[in-house]
Amino acid sequence: MVARVIDGLAAAKEIRQECKARVNKLVQSGIRPGLAVILVGNDPASAVYVKNKIRACDEVGVHSLQFKFPSDIAEEAVLKKIEELNRDPQVHGILVQLPLPRHFDLSRILLTISPEKDVDGFHLYNVGGLVVGNTVFPPCTPFGVLKLLQSNNIKIEGQNVVVVGASNIVGKPMALMLMQQDATVCICHAKTRDLAQFTILADILVVAAGRPNLIVPQMVKTGAVVIDVGINRLSSGELVGDVDFAGVSEKASYITPVPGGVGPMTVTMLIYNTVASAERVFASGE
Ligand code: NAD
Repeated sequence: MVARVIDGLAAAKEIRQECKARVNKLVQSGIRPGLAVILVGNDPASAVYVKNKIRACDEVGVHSLQFKFPSDIAEEAVLKKIEELNRDPQVHGILVQLPLPRHFDLSRILLTISPEKDVDGFHLYNVGGLVVGNTVFPPCTPFGVLKLLQSNNIKIEGQNVVVVGASNIVGKPMALMLMQQDATVCICHAKTRDLAQFTILADILVVAAGRPNLIVPQMVKTGAVVIDVGINRLSSGELVGDVDFAGVSEKASYITPVPGGVGPMTVTMLIYNTVASAERVFASGE
């Protein structure tokens, strides 16, 4: 079997076009969706992520605001800015680029963002919503994976899903979202004994561990759908996922490449959530 390669770039492009049309409609009604991005410190990777997010806003017509703070800024100053943005009617989404410097209390920062503007989906209210199935904003990376599965008409209901990785931003919300779609879900992590005994059972295998070559063909069931969320930079400079792409491609029915798979979907779902937030405000007549 040779897997079909899921084209994340094409799927992201289609969703951005849809977002653009929805933005145009909102603008005609007097609302331009707005996203505020807070960046603390000078981590080069974070600066690139923020740049990509701003570029994606520009592409679909979402108004973006950037707030940059030095790494030694007091937490209170950032909290004050978030509170200000919570009250600003032109801002429909607020995101604080992670990671934050060590002296920050991350949970306090996330709890201060209004759940109605928490387009990253990290506020406890939104996390709780994932458990009961009506979250306001699904977190962007697992939301992007779900959209990729749906846009390729991959059946989720009743399927055995194994999620490798149990982080708060990818693995855990991914598992909850797929459970909500009536899949049978198993989560594995760094302390899992004999990972292969679980992965081999997966009809859909989602891997988000940050370990190059963690998943090799012997660990994959013939015909499985394999979604590689991992992004790893090798010493050679090459960007790879967590899955042995060439080997697993010969066994899987579908596979996502790295780059060009899940990556482009993450920023796109951030824009999607921001547009949805503005639509909600418009529908509520505020
Ligand atoms: P994390 O470090 O917070 O969590 C990694 C998880 O993987 C943990 O639960 C850990 O227990 C598990 N893990 C580590 N080694 C393992 C092993 N050998 N076997 C089984 N489980 C193992 O990372 P994260 O933030 O969840 O990100 C995971 C990967 O996804 C990273 O490569 C990251 O760069 C990538 N990522 C990609 C996107 C995207 O847009 N494509 C978004 C977020 C994260």
